[in-house]
Amino acid sequence: MFGVGSGLIYKVSFGVILAKRFSVIFFPENDNKVRHFRIHGWMLRASLGFCLVFIGLFTFFAYSFFNLTIDNDELHHLRSETSQQRQTLYRLVADFEGVQQQMNDLVATEARVRQLANLETIPQGLPVAIGGLAKTDPTETVSAIQRQINKLQVDIELRRHSQENVRNLLNDHVSLRRATPKGWPTKGWLTSYFGMRKSPFTGRRVMHEGLDIAANTGTPVVATADGIVVRANYCPDYGKIVVIDHGYGYRTIFGHNSKLLVKTGQKIERGDMIAQVGNTGQSTGSHLHYEMRLNGVPIDPRKTL
Ligand SMILES: [Zn+2]
Repeated sequence: MFGVGSGLIYKVSFGVILAKRFSVIFFPENDNKVRHFRIHGWMLRASLGFCLVFIGLFTFFAYSFFNLTIDNDELHHLRSETSQQRQTLYRLVADFEGVQQQMNDLVATEARVRQLANLETIPQGLPVAIGGLAKTDPTETVSAIQRQINKLQVDIELRRHSQENVRNLLNDHVSLRRATPKGWPTKGWLTSYFGMRKSPFTGRRVMHEGLDIAANTGTPVVATADGIVVRANYCPDYGKIVVIDHGYGYRTIFGHNSKLLVKTGQKIERGDMIAQVGNTGQSTGSHLHYEMRLNGVPIDPRKTL
């Protein structure tokens, strides 16, 4: 049974829907006249079916509209993100070109340094510029940047080796300069030069292999270059003697000292005090005998004073 009172449905049971025919009775409050309608079962079922289809379609379209709105938002978001990434990419390309330019400047400076140091220039070239790719295909640009970065890394490694090369050479120059005897070994005045002279002891002409610098006993004697003391003792000819090996074939010899201030094996820097002037060994007065040898051969120290 299906009853309607005051226009409101108050009871529906599922089995009723399958009935062939229905009676709908109205009991208006202000009117004593009862209204009675008959409707067919198929009409009710058709109405229900229509309602269900309508609800289904409504849900489907509402859902699609909702999804479409979300997709649209996402599309906007992605578009804006892509645009930002593209801008970032352009900036990266510009920055990268800047780095390449700096690298070019460095290479030019390095070439100049190598030229000054009389070193061969490095034959390998620089990476090719990547300008112009950015506005065509971002993917292509990214892989182009990657390739250029790889080349740049190789080039940086090359530059590192080259600079190490230059640094070693300069270090060698510095070491050689510090190892080459230079300046006066004591404060005094020259009394005998390098070369043949009449011996004050035998009267015969003999080779004088160094310079004699007259100075008061006790006057400091200093090393004229960096090196290592290879001898610091007494011998009959030179008296109290100091021999310094400077490397690069150079040795200096200091004779007739009154006092030795260094020991064999001691590392010495130019200007270090090594002895005091004296009159020991075969000597006719207080003076320093200063001798210089290059690869074992005595050379005139005068031009180094
Ligand atoms: Zn001498």
